[in-house]
Amino acid sequence: MPAKVKNVGIPGVQPPERTCDDPNCPFHGTLRVRGLTLRGVVVSAKMQKTVVVARDYLHYNRKYMRYERRRSKIHAHNPPCINAKEGDIVLIGETRPISKTVAFVVLAVLGRVEGGKGG
Ligand SMILES: [Zn+2]
Repeated sequence: MPAKVKNVGIPGVQPPERTCDDPNCPFHGTLRVRGLTLRGVVVSAKMQKTVVVARDYLHYNRKYMRYERRRSKIHAHNPPCINAKEGDIVLIGETRPISKTVAFVVLAVLGRVEGGKGG
């Protein structure tokens, strides 16, 4: 296991207490985080080392002059040292594409949504 913990270069992000030997970990591997940082809620943690993060937002509909709710789902790499679970509110950062659908990595668990799924 690598003893050195990298600084991911994002203000306010502290490295996790655990370590891991995942090469695609921004703290203990060689993955670089650049671009967007977003927060969302983990709605599925069933894949190996990958979670689905949902983001709810409002989009203004001009014709009806009100907001409609929209939701986007982003697949994010979940390193073993962070191990985010369903219902966790997480901070994710953009990285190079790790697979066909994954170009974000979980940087921190910020809290939990009561009642499990959703957000
Ligand atoms: Zn790690």
